[in-house]
Amino acid sequence: MTDIIQLLPDHVANQIAAGEVVQRPASVVKELLENAIDAGATEIKLIVKEGGKTLIQVVDNGIGMSNTDARLSFERHATSKIKCAEDLFNLHTKGFRGEALASIAAIAHVEMQTKPEGEEFGTHLRIEGSKVAFQEVAVCPKGTSISVKNLFFNIPARRNFLKSNQVELRHISDEFHRVALVHSNISFHFYNNGSELFNLPKGNFRQRIVQIFGTKMNERLVPVEEDTEVVKLSGFVIKPEYAKKSRGEQFFFANNRFIKSPYLHHAINAAFEGLMRNEMQPGYFLQMEVDPSTIDINIHPTKTEVKFDDEQTLYAILRSAVKHSLGQFNVAPMLDFEHDRNLDTPYSYQSKDAVLPKVTVDPGFNPFEDNKSAPRQVQKQSVKGWQDLYEVDTSDSQHFSSVQFESEATNSNLFDKQATNIEESTVCFQLNHKFIVTKTKSALLVINQNRAHQRVLYEQFLKVLSNDTMVKQELLFPEEKVLVANEFGILKGIEDDLSALGFDITFDSTKKSIKIDAVPGLMTEVNIGTVLENLIVTFEEENNTNELSTTELTAKNLAKSMAVKNGQPMDAASQMALVNDLFGCLEPELSPFKKRTYVLVSDNELENKF
Ligand code: ADP
Ligand code: MG
Repeated sequence: MTDIIQLLPDHVANQIAAGEVVQRPASVVKELLENAIDAGATEIKLIVKEGGKTLIQVVDNGIGMSNTDARLSFERHATSKIKCAEDLFNLHTKGFRGEALASIAAIAHVEMQTKPEGEEFGTHLRIEGSKVAFQEVAVCPKGTSISVKNLFFNIPARRNFLKSNQVELRHISDEFHRVALVHSNISFHFYNNGSELFNLPKGNFRQRIVQIFGTKMNERLVPVEEDTEVVKLSGFVIKPEYAKKSRGEQFFFANNRFIKSPYLHHAINAAFEGLMRNEMQPGYFLQMEVDPSTIDINIHPTKTEVKFDDEQTLYAILRSAVKHSLGQFNVAPMLDFEHDRNLDTPYSYQSKDAVLPKVTVDPGFNPFEDNKSAPRQVQKQSVKGWQDLYEVDTSDSQHFSSVQFESEATNSNLFDKQATNIEESTVCFQLNHKFIVTKTKSALLVINQNRAHQRVLYEQFLKVLSNDTMVKQELLFPEEKVLVANEFGILKGIEDDLSALGFDITFDSTKKSIKIDAVPGLMTEVNIGTVLENLIVTFEEENNTNELSTTELTAKNLAKSMAVKNGQPMDAASQMALVNDLFGCLEPELSPFKKRTYVLVSDNELENKF
């Protein structure tokens, strides 16, 4: 047999390596920022365009490179950071694999200007698809500037896999935060499409957290400090009352490197146990300093998954240190045995007899008689008058409220077409405050109220979007909210979708705050804050599924937040209206999240049971 094995040419090997190192623009950002830090920069500028797809540039004032080094830096396994295998156990730099620049140069157009301190001239170099397009002497400042253009220009499959600019920008911001947070001694600037997103002057860790996450974060932080032989721990946890549903505020750093560790995360969760509701996430910014020989960073090309020698001890230290901090800062509820109860009562009252409080009761009051629940009244008031602002036909079935379905079952002709043919005189009832049970001509119909309502609302939102028949409710008292940077970015990213659905939101990029002046006409009695928070969580966790447009995802999510919940009582008219509205939908069988909305039990099936 003839020999068939051959060595891959360098540029092919580089492209393969690039697949591991560079998944998306954010990966390039991470590598370039880390190189700038390793070069001892004190000022770093990040410039991106179109979610990093057309340009990612990092400018630093670090040590720069000589002419030869500049050329060599793009070779695979070319590094100045380690010389032998032993060095791997004593790493003090972010990089060491010597493959980032080679990988990036294999899949993008790269341009570099670099000059070491004290040299008169620097080097200007351009590389396209691993080949040097030109190299010349240049006049440039000390330090290095690297521009990466047209990422994946030669791998269309990867390019097509990229998300919208907004989503890619969010990944870049996440990466930027991770690096900038733990290097508060370096000043950072971050520009997107020509406008400044972040300007972070030098400061301490706490100041850097506040620069990135907003001034409100300051009062939410509880310091954590612990110095042991295994680890020097420092940083902050967020007070449990400010816990969020999203995981956006969870940061572990090991030796100044952002790391992911589900195991250590669990330790923090354990320390917060009993202080937060289950679905909430603890927030933390924790730095661990360990002996470099006790940590293996080389287990994954992106170097975010690491292996500690003694993870169990770390776990125990983390858990107890965080617990201690929460307790010390009076965050954890503590039993106070030394409390003098006499101090609770004003002195002059102590000798007085106790008097039964007088309560006037209206014996005729029946809370279940009145359809209008209290919170609803409040909301109604706050939007009172909006109908006058917009000429709307309120008889339109779109304007039914989310719980009180005031619309009468008028659409019966619609159902004649449906297999589920419900008779006019049909009654329904609610089972366990969760299911609506009714009948069709020949079957028993059991509807999941929450999912059915999600479907109804979702289709109404889609109708609003396609017909441009959007109705807004002006809020009498506009709500203002200060958000943390990534939340602000997420909402800003779907600004157009929100406004198409009926939100009037003004974004203030400097204060990272939003002002909500109007909400969709379909929205009633729901807490706007919760609706927006759910939206943020959805988009934060939106993981690589590209099937939906952001508008649809937004509509789906709003429908979910606003739908009547399981466990919520509904009066007969509302139940009937929901049944009718459901079968007026284009796709009544499934919720927007593709879950079954109802089941039919036919006469035959029933017969068979007897
Ligand atoms: P690594 O960082 O793992 O060494 P890279 O491919 O990222 O590998 O970089 C290769 C080499 O290029 C580095 O070891 C360093 O010597 C040099 N280099 C890269 N970026 C810079 C920079 N911004 N300033 C100075 N030197 C740099
Ligand atoms: Mg590197």
